[in-house]
Amino acid sequence: MISKQQCWHPSRAAALAQLEQFVANAGSRYASQRNFDHGQSRHYSVSTLSPWIRHRSITEEEVIAAVLKQHSRTAADKFIQEVFWRTYWKGWLEARPQVWHNYRADVSAFYRESPETIRQCDAATSAGTGIECFDTWCKELVATGYLHNHARMWFASIWIFTLQLPWQMGADFFLRHLLDGDPASNTLSWRWVAGLHTTGKTYLARPENIEKYTGGRFSPTGQLSSTAHALTETPIGDKTELPVSSEITPDKTTGLLITEDDLCIDHLLKEAASHKLNVASVATLQTTALRSPAAVSDNATNFVQQLMKDCTTTQFNVRIDAAIDAISINSSKTPVAQVVNWASKNNLQQVVTAYAPTGPTAELIADIKLALNRQDVQLLSSVRQWDEKIWPHSSRGFFALKKKIPQLLDQLYPTQTSAIQQSLPF
Ligand SMILES: Cc1cc2nc3c(=O)[nH]c(=O)nc-3n(C[C@H](O)[C@H](O)[C@H](O)COP(=O)(O)OP(=O)(O)OC[C@H]3O[C@@H](n4cnc5c(N)ncnc54)[C@H](O)[C@@H]3O)c2cc1C
Repeated sequence: MISKQQCWHPSRAAALAQLEQFVANAGSRYASQRNFDHGQSRHYSVSTLSPWIRHRSITEEEVIAAVLKQHSRTAADKFIQEVFWRTYWKGWLEARPQVWHNYRADVSAFYRESPETIRQCDAATSAGTGIECFDTWCKELVATGYLHNHARMWFASIWIFTLQLPWQMGADFFLRHLLDGDPASNTLSWRWVAGLHTTGKTYLARPENIEKYTGGRFSPTGQLSSTAHALTETPIGDKTELPVSSEITPDKTTGLLITEDDLCIDHLLKEAASHKLNVASVATLQTTALRSPAAVSDNATNFVQQLMKDCTTTQFNVRIDAAIDAISINSSKTPVAQVVNWASKNNLQQVVTAYAPTGPTAELIADIKLALNRQDVQLLSSVRQWDEKIWPHSSRGFFALKKKIPQLLDQLYPTQTSAIQQSLPF
């Protein structure tokens, strides 16, 4: 079967090793096997790459480049589509940040005002529902920080339609525990299951489907709701303009701000080189703690912390000649003031960062930008070409984007031996 990787070492080297191991199976085998969930430590049918891709320790672009080196587009069609789902969700939310803000407000309100709901959610997630599959997935998620995609869909459906708990609190449980916890993929997938994304179309977890795709490990016959009525909400407002990269001024004393939303530094280094920036300092900003008003799991927090350390120690030290004053900012301690101090200590004239998509990092960056502006320091964001090209096609249903995938691949991979492929060590 497919991959043997079952734990997620927090480094780019580990991500590349996992990609190398998986890539031969990204063709027809992935297409036919991907729906099978073999259980904890047995996720042979999928890549298990998401904890790294989520933080861009390896990028979507690199993953697809590696796949296209070994498979035709047709053979890898299903895998490529799945990677595009990640970008689709991000682009969709980027155009409608209100959906994220509403979700955040709802979660905060539940924690503040509904102790009984919180008690019910805690009881469900303490593996005490008596629905064996659901209780097992709770344990797996808490223990490992990962669930198979099919398990995530079944879990969300049981949460909403069988246990009748608020989708927002299920999404919050996921976001606090998933190593790949992602504002767009998580919030919008939960909404998709609830019938809020494709209005009126819900996902119902069926016992026979669970039995089949867990290889008979579970058989929840008679325990699950047999109906799934779509949830409703007040209509979302108008779409927002998509972001564009800021104009970066050459020759200025510059700080690079690395966030957990983009840990592959090639992009920023290219910006620095093409604008002849004098990079005086590098800072890292970890925002994992901001995923929820409640505590985020140690698994997720430590994974991201180590990934960020790996980024500065293994990527920057070998790629930048100038001395680096790398600092870590712990978001629980006045992060805005810490970034301002960092900029002032290094006499920075501008700070350049990879664009942070809608989510906790983007919220914090907005505050940091205002505070830096007050000190006459500009904060400039650079949007990756990948996002810039795909997001404009992500504002409707996925199938509108799917139709554009061949054309987008032509643009993103003009030759089979693009520079990105050459940078991969295999
Ligand atoms: C309720 C629910 C919540 C989810 N929450 C998250 C989340 O917080 N973070 C997250 O990264 N994904 C989330 N997903 C999407 C998906 O389940 C995971 O990305 C996938 O399971 C990751 O495992 P993998 O790397 O082995 O995937 P593979 O099947 O090997 O897929 C390869 C890559 O494609 C992307 N991908 C695959 N399926 C999806 C999908 N449905 N949506 C978006 N991208 C996808 C991922 O980058 C993944 O690494 C959620 C799905 C559901 C149903």
